[in-house]
Amino acid sequence: MGILDDVVINAKSVAEAVGRKAGQLVDVSKLHVSAAEVNAEITKRYQTLGQYVYENGREALAADPEAMGQMAELDGLQEQLSVINKELGDKQNKAVCPTCGRHCGSADTFCSTCGTRLQPEEPAEEPIPQEGGPNDEAAKAAAQGPAPTVSDIPPRDFP
Ligand SMILES: [Zn+2]
Repeated sequence: MGILDDVVINAKSVAEAVGRKAGQLVDVSKLHVSAAEVNAEITKRYQTLGQYVYENGREALAADPEAMGQMAELDGLQEQLSVINKELGDKQNKAVCPTCGRHCGSADTFCSTCGTRLQPEEPAEEPIPQEGGPNDEAAKAAAQGPAPTVSDIPPRDFP
């Protein structure tokens, strides 16, 4: 709803601004520039509107084979893009965020753009009790203590 209101309001203000400019400048070439500007703006609005419909209007257009065909083609292109991005990431030894498609460092745990987890969550390596079996007091102390007994476990991020 909001985005459509913005489109209408912005289109009006663009039309007014261009109208003022056209009144002042009678030069035909200037009118050509104005026409090109408005044309570019219209193209941009089509794109915005199209993306909005693609993302939000699927249910409303479910009965329209033309619209659904276009959306299916877009789905295919999106799929292609993510495959290419993945391949590109592999070649550059970089991780590609499955959510936003950004290239992240291969060692990054989370995407720096959208926060999606990039590394599979590894099972925590539980320190194996060495002497006399499990001891509740010792385990609590180990969990709270500042010096972990197993020092080669890398620091882990917790969401
Ligand atoms: Zn991301």
